[in-house]
Amino acid sequence: MMNKKLVALTFDDGPDIDITPKVLDLLEKYHVVASFFLIGERITESTKPLIQRQISLGCDIQNHSWTHPFMDKMPKEAIIKEIQDTSDLIYNIVGVAPTFFRPPFIAVSDEMYECIDLPFINGINCLDWDPTVSAEDRADMILSNVKDGDIILLHDLVGNVNTVKALETIIPGMLERDFEFVNIGKLFELKGINPNVKNKIWTNVLE
Ligand SMILES: [Zn+2]
Repeated sequence: MMNKKLVALTFDDGPDIDITPKVLDLLEKYHVVASFFLIGERITESTKPLIQRQISLGCDIQNHSWTHPFMDKMPKEAIIKEIQDTSDLIYNIVGVAPTFFRPPFIAVSDEMYECIDLPFINGINCLDWDPTVSAEDRADMILSNVKDGDIILLHDLVGNVNTVKALETIIPGMLERDFEFVNIGKLFELKGINPNVKNKIWTNVLE
């Protein structure tokens, strides 16, 4: 069990040709890593180089479904296909299969828990899918709530410039307060927590 304050910074809904590079520039500037939960159908010839850059910066690639549907309304076969197609494509590109899953809209069902064999991940958020929430409010929400063991859920979503701007405050603000950013898998490992708990979705690895 590590006593250092650790968090995992995570991004959903990419890769995006405009926003993802701006996020990666900031990770590189501050020498921090993040975990990216990708939508399978957003992986194209033009976004593949972004995934390669994520890997080269020490980030890891996780599963956020193929088409971003409400999976809690789907039958098992369709759920399995959403996950498998995405994991297969990611494996083909980076040589490692995703080890965590974030449900689109954080919508879950018994069927999903039964047929998705990956730990489910939520996180603390700052409503950053809502374009009316300012960069300042996003940064304030994260900085005033974040604690040891948290997973931080943000979006490198198309057009999401306010989150890029918020990161300019969030990352240095947390580094000043002695938080260390680690990959999602590393967060569980360093805290000595097994993520494979049935019917659970994680926001903080210590809870
Ligand atoms: Zn999403």
